[in-house]
Amino acid sequence: MEIHRTPLVSPSLGTTRELVSYHYGPAHAARRIVIQSSVHADETPGMLVSWVLKRRLADLESRGLLRARVVVVPVANPIGLNQRIAGALIGRFETDSGQNFNRRFIDLAGRIGDGLEATLGHDEQRNGLLFRQAVHAALEEVKPRNELESLQLALHWLSADADIVLDLHCSLEGVLHLFTHADAWPAFEPLACYLGVGTSLLCEDSGGHSFDEAINLSWGALRSRFGDRFPIPASPLAACIELRGLYDVTHEFAERDADAILQFIALRGGIAGGVTPPPPLIRPPMPLSGSEQIDAPCAGVLVYRAPLGAWLKPGDAVADIVDPMTDQVTTLHTQIEGVLYTRRVTRYVHTGVTVVLMAGVTPRRTGPLLTA
Ligand SMILES: [Zn+2]
Repeated sequence: MEIHRTPLVSPSLGTTRELVSYHYGPAHAARRIVIQSSVHADETPGMLVSWVLKRRLADLESRGLLRARVVVVPVANPIGLNQRIAGALIGRFETDSGQNFNRRFIDLAGRIGDGLEATLGHDEQRNGLLFRQAVHAALEEVKPRNELESLQLALHWLSADADIVLDLHCSLEGVLHLFTHADAWPAFEPLACYLGVGTSLLCEDSGGHSFDEAINLSWGALRSRFGDRFPIPASPLAACIELRGLYDVTHEFAERDADAILQFIALRGGIAGGVTPPPPLIRPPMPLSGSEQIDAPCAGVLVYRAPLGAWLKPGDAVADIVDPMTDQVTTLHTQIEGVLYTRRVTRYVHTGVTVVLMAGVTPRRTGPLLTA
């Protein structure tokens, strides 16, 4: 195992942070897998899974069973992890700029490709190598202006030449679910089975330029530009995995989720030995554009009437908002058929906040598809 330390841009005199990554397996293995946790720094289930993975990978490495280079970044957001306001950890948004830590990752689409055409040929593997070199060359040109940009660059760099990237997050309250690009779904379906996800949400481009999309879209831009004239290997596979809710941090969950990820890596040829066949998929994937976001039309005490993971029909009640002064009770209903996959943690809502996310099979939304 090797430990790599990438210093971030110093935000202030006397203050420096670094991104630390742990690298297991053969340095020049043909396959490279990156697993990072808690880009939203207060989403801690992934950090515990990374901790379990580190021990399992060290053991596999010591027994000579790793066939892939596996990189684990357990603390993917050291900036957010130290943002506290009146005792509360603020890990989703940078407090200085207000930017969501998992939005606006580097958009390489317009920065790569020029000059590639003369070098591409009919060797698919070589074209893939040239693509990866082009991505790295483009990243080398990026000059981060602040600590946040240097963190996003460091994360992007670590995953730029990976075959598989798993970005571990969680919801406020949520069923285990997975986001990925529609093209990547066939490859990730076994992972969804091993994990036992309650739903999988697919899209081409959510508009948020989250980390997993930044990885997928840079390759996609090259494919759309050159793919009709040159053989291009499959894109790197990047997925965002939502490991239930903020408080679903237990040794049992972490062991189970780490097991699932290692079974998937073995299936992809990254671990020698036997492969456990994936169990059946719990539910077919759904389009992210088919999801319904139900917001609070008024403030009040939030009382859920439908549990996480419930399959609901149009008109079913999901929650009441109670005003204990006027006695008014406002019941929220879903308009779609689908699964209730995330809820809020706090049981008081302000007007306009999102109360529930539903996943449905029929595309219905356009524009930005991710929550703030
Ligand atoms: Zn997150």
